[in-house]
Amino acid sequence: MRACCLVLLVLGTAAKAQFPNQNADLILQGGEIYTPSGWAEALAITDGVIVAVGNAATVSGLRGASTEVIDLAGATVLPGLHDMHVHPQGGGGGRQQCQFPQGSSLEIVQSTLGGCVSERSSGEWIIGGQWDSASIGSPPHRSMLDAVAPDNPVVLTDISGHSAWANSAALEIAGITAGTANPQGGVIERDADGIATGVLRESAAGLVRGRVPPPDPGQALDSLSYSLNLMLSHGITTITDAVIDEGSMRAYAELADQGVLKQRVRGCIVWRPGGDQISTTPDPSSPLARANLYRRDRFSPDCVKLLLDGVPTDGHTAAMLDPYADATLEDDERSRGILMLPQETLNETLIALDAQGFAVKMHAAGDAAVRAGLDAIAAARQANGFSGILHDVGHNSFVHMSDIERARSIGATFEMSPYIWYPNPIIPDISRAIGPERMQRWIPVKDALDAGVLTVPGSDWPVVAEVNPWIGIETLVTRQAPGGGGEQLGEPISLEQAIDMFTVNAARQMGNSNRTGRIVPGLLADVIVIDRNPFEIPITEVHETQVLKVLIEGEIVYGETMP
Ligand SMILES: [Zn+2]
Repeated sequence: MRACCLVLLVLGTAAKAQFPNQNADLILQGGEIYTPSGWAEALAITDGVIVAVGNAATVSGLRGASTEVIDLAGATVLPGLHDMHVHPQGGGGGRQQCQFPQGSSLEIVQSTLGGCVSERSSGEWIIGGQWDSASIGSPPHRSMLDAVAPDNPVVLTDISGHSAWANSAALEIAGITAGTANPQGGVIERDADGIATGVLRESAAGLVRGRVPPPDPGQALDSLSYSLNLMLSHGITTITDAVIDEGSMRAYAELADQGVLKQRVRGCIVWRPGGDQISTTPDPSSPLARANLYRRDRFSPDCVKLLLDGVPTDGHTAAMLDPYADATLEDDERSRGILMLPQETLNETLIALDAQGFAVKMHAAGDAAVRAGLDAIAAARQANGFSGILHDVGHNSFVHMSDIERARSIGATFEMSPYIWYPNPIIPDISRAIGPERMQRWIPVKDALDAGVLTVPGSDWPVVAEVNPWIGIETLVTRQAPGGGGEQLGEPISLEQAIDMFTVNAARQMGNSNRTGRIVPGLLADVIVIDRNPFEIPITEVHETQVLKVLIEGEIVYGETMP
């Protein structure tokens, strides 16, 4: 028995030893291939690994009788793109919801909601979005929803995803009365009489959302597959799902077991104060303790998401170092926003998660929250030494220059999201709350790159309407609306820097530098074929890029035929 296995082992080794000389499974040739050392003509792949990149003559040496050859016909090949902050379940689930376009007026919200009411039976929950106060024209109030939906509980998410607008029926089901105290990390907005207006900020939104029946497992799988396919069609080969729970871990594992999960997925398990006891003995029934049950080759639930603050809109929930520009005296308590975790709790949590091997992604929009996140990473390095895990401060709408300067030295990374690096309906809201001066450095991508901080991009879809990374790449460079024109924001970077953010930087952030992110021999063949070379066209046309083919580990997972 032992002898037999030894022989098999030796044979196995021998077969692998021939590997560099064996014929390629697939050759892509006749195109423009983006590599760290310049443009190449051809690329050869064996067993999912890039085995050669170079001119056509060199690569054709690996061509054998069984080698498949794809003529690129002048198309461009880039490394597969990463979206480092996305909510696929929510993005796909939105299709069944009551949705109106971002920037909708009250009239449009009400007429859309009226239509949704007519399609549902009395008492059935209606969920949807996405509203913003500036477009509604006045602070949203439950009575505006009651007028068209008196008999259905309604909860509508705002454009940032951080506030909910509920009608009276929903507030009643959630048991929210004048006597209900604000939950930790949340605000129940109230009128002059102390009665809830229906607007619920941050964790307070959970009081109502927690009462909405969850989608059935079939629906959850359907939403997830829809989103993963949509992202593949845009050339996204690796994602970080920024909020997962046990249900979504089960869904990813099931898709992986069915062989339909193609992307590399990192999942971040959301943790809130009062949840699992991270620092002492983890609850064995918690998602954190159960993560390895759901781990698969393409799915790693190895990240924890912490919410440090909210959003810098009229709700003033992002934690700022200096008061909001439109803070009033009555508003004193919230004039600098909300930091949701005391620094000491945050530090203890970071130290414990780092020691347990989890990467931490922190939601931090305001500069005070970013500082708190960096302080916590510094505390983990101090306590544990450098674990090799790159923890991530995410969003970074506002970051103090001194914090950008120290991020690199503590091994912290910045995830810049969402893809609204250009004028968008949420900006007037933010600009009014923050004031024009601080808006100059809104999402300071350039400052971060100039300081040498590892910086990666996230769409935060469906917080933004489009998961399309080509819009993100273009607008990181132009800081104008897709296609150019109109107002221009600050902090523009180069096209090369933008593509690096989506490829090599992102791979490095995930600890995958030796596997993906660049087109070089030895790395896995996660590559995309696109219809134009972004370096050879006007930058304002990059957002129209069409993806022709996507390969993950050498397997063609999108686009079967070439034009
Ligand atoms: Zn998000």
